[in-house]
Amino acid sequence: MKIFKRIGLFALIALMTLQFAGCKKENSATNNVDLSSETLISKEPIELTVFYPSSKEADGQWKIFAEAAKLTNVSARVTVSKSNTDFNQAFNLALAAGDIPDIVETYDPVGFSQYGIEGAFVPLNEYFDECAPNIKKMLEENPSIKKRITASDGNIYYIPHIPGGSASTGWFIRTDWLKKLGLEIPDSTEELYTVFKAFKEKDPNGNGQADEVPFFGADLNELFPLWNARPDWYVADGKIKYGPYEPEYKEALTNIIKWYNEGLIDREILTRSKDPREKMLTDNIGGATNNWFGSTAKFNDRLKDSIPGFEFKPIAPPNGIELRRRPESSLYGWGVSASSKYIKEAIKYLDFWYSETGNRLMNFGVEGVHYDMVDGKPQFKAELLAKENVQKELAEFGIQMDIGFKQDFEYEKQWINQIAVDGMTMYENSDYIVEQVPPLEMVIADEEAKESNNIDTQIDTYASEMLQKWVLGAVAFTDESWNKYINELDKFGMNGLLEIRQNAYEKYNK
Ligand code: CA
Repeated sequence: MKIFKRIGLFALIALMTLQFAGCKKENSATNNVDLSSETLISKEPIELTVFYPSSKEADGQWKIFAEAAKLTNVSARVTVSKSNTDFNQAFNLALAAGDIPDIVETYDPVGFSQYGIEGAFVPLNEYFDECAPNIKKMLEENPSIKKRITASDGNIYYIPHIPGGSASTGWFIRTDWLKKLGLEIPDSTEELYTVFKAFKEKDPNGNGQADEVPFFGADLNELFPLWNARPDWYVADGKIKYGPYEPEYKEALTNIIKWYNEGLIDREILTRSKDPREKMLTDNIGGATNNWFGSTAKFNDRLKDSIPGFEFKPIAPPNGIELRRRPESSLYGWGVSASSKYIKEAIKYLDFWYSETGNRLMNFGVEGVHYDMVDGKPQFKAELLAKENVQKELAEFGIQMDIGFKQDFEYEKQWINQIAVDGMTMYENSDYIVEQVPPLEMVIADEEAKESNNIDTQIDTYASEMLQKWVLGAVAFTDESWNKYINELDKFGMNGLLEIRQNAYEKYNK
C-alpha cells in the first residue's frame, strides 16, 4: 500500500516512541446493558478501540462512551495521543505501530479519504443499507453534505460532525453610543461612515478625549464587503474568484485606507496579537466589530456593572453581506479501519450516534444528570447552566465531542445569552450570509493539489503583505502600484490556479 510511503521518517520515530503497541482487545464485561434496547448492536459485549487525537480532554475515558455501552453493548476504548496534537503525526504513529484502531477520528478529511482510497479505511457507503439506516437517511435528506464528504473515487470514508445552526459571526455595535448621539442603526456603508465619524468626534464614552476606536477586529476582512469586495476565495454566479485579484478589491481598499487614515479603524488592527475585544470593550473605547455571536454578546453580561449603560448588540451587516457561516458539515468526523475485526459493528456504532438516542446523548448528556425533559425537550439542569464555563463542564463528561454526530442548536441556545440568540436568529432568517466555497480539495487530484497549494500559499502571502504595506502607508496605494501587484499575482500563476479551482468546482457540482 502506498500509505506506508507517506509515513517516511515518522515510522522510525514511531518505533522508538510507540504508544499504541500493546493495545489488545479485552472484552471487559459491560455493566447494566439493556439487551432489549433498540440500539443494541451486539448480544455479546464488544470493545472497539477508538483513535482520537486531542489534548483537549484529559484521559480520553469519556463517561459518555460508558453510557453508550449500556445501550449498544459496544464499549469504546479511546487511545488519545497526549504528546502531540497534530493529527498526521499522531495518526502516522498509529499506522506505523501496525495496529490501526477500529475507529479513527480525523481532522483532515482530504488526507483521510486518500488513505481510504489506498485501502486503509472502509468505504462506508457500501454498508449503509445494512448497518447505518440513520446515516443513510441523513445523507438522503442532505445531498449537499453527501457531496462534501464524498472522496474523489465516489466513496465515503468518514462520517462528519454537523454543526447546529448556520450563523456564526455578525456585526456588533455600541447601541448605547448610538442612542447617546441620537443616531440610527446604520444600514448602508454611507450611514456606517457617518456613525463612525460621530463615534470618533463626539466623545460617546464621555471622557473628554477623542480616544474612541470606531471599528476594531482581528483583521480588515470584514470591511471589504462594505464595498462589495471579498478578502479571499469566493463563488459568484458559478465562478470561483479570488477577491484580492478583482477590481472591487481595489475600490474597497481605496476606502479602507481612507477610513484608516481618518482614525475610524483601529491603528493596530493588523498587528494586535491578543483578542482585540478584550481591550477595546473593557477600556470602553471600541465602537463596532464583527465576531462570533456567542462570545461577543457575553461582554454585555461582563461589563454591565463596570460601564454604565453598556450595550453591544448585533446589527444587520451594514451593506447586507456577511462572509462567514458555520459549515454545513465540519472538516472532522470519524471512519472505520479496513483491518478492523468488527467492521459492521463499528459502522453500527457510528450510526448509533446518528440515532435519536445517540444524538440526544452526545448533545445533552444523561437524563437526570445533565438535563431533564421539559415539554418533550431536553433542558439542561439549572446547576449546570450556572457554571462559569458550560462547554468545559460538558466536555469533561465527553458531551459534544468532535465525533461524527449532528449537533443540536438547542444545546447551544441554552447557555449563550439572549442577545446572541437574537443576533443569530436575525442572520439565519435573512440572506446576508454569502455562498461558501465548497471543500474543493476533495475532488482535486493529488498532483494538482500540490501545485495548487504551492501557488495558493505564495499568492496569499504576497497579497496580505501588500495589503499591510498599503494600509500602513509603507507603499503608496496608486494605480501604478496596483497594476504592479496584479502583474506579480499573474507571475505566481494566478490564472492557472483559478482554472484548477474552477474545474474542481464544476467537477464537485456534477
Ligand atoms: Ca472619548
